[in-house]
Amino acid sequence: NLSSDTDFSGIKERTLIAVKPDAVQRRLVGEIIKRFEQRGFQLVGLKMLQASDKLLSQHYVSLQRKAFYSSLLYYMTSGPVVAMVWEGPNVVRSSRLMVGDTDPATAAPGTIRGDYCLHISRNVVHASDSVEGAQREISLWFHPSELVDWDVCDQKNIYHL
Ligand code: UDP
Repeated sequence: NLSSDTDFSGIKERTLIAVKPDAVQRRLVGEIIKRFEQRGFQLVGLKMLQASDKLLSQHYVSLQRKAFYSSLLYYMTSGPVVAMVWEGPNVVRSSRLMVGDTDPATAAPGTIRGDYCLHISRNVVHASDSVEGAQREISLWFHPSELVDWDVCDQKNIYHL
């Protein structure tokens, strides 16, 4: 688990973004990374992995009773996932807005889901839905040693410091 002294407040807020297997297959990894980079968020963790049932059952623990749960795990283990941790002010809320509604049918054009998918069960990307949820998910997907603390050289152009 992440050390409890990690500061997630203010500009150090972090979120888990995962490019799901359908988006990896569709060569959308670069497109999705590009949107977060261009917005000004800072990449602090990145890896490709074949997610295990164990990891996903912890990640989606709140959905275990849903009818779609087993097909969700099948989907999420159907190929590699690209997991990322992005950092910046209000990154949790902003990235949910950038990703769009869970159901692509109601995701606004301009959002990732609104631009790249059509069906709720193939909705290309995951984004944590709260700061607490993000901390929990980051500690599931990443070892603390896989997260990099580094300074962006032009921070004053992005943040009002
Ligand atoms: N999902 C699905 N069918 C549904 C609802 C959700 O297949 O009716 C899948 C979908 O991939 C979604 C994931 O389960 O992204 C997690 O659902 P959640 O409600 O947490 O949505 P999210 O936070 O991903 O927008």
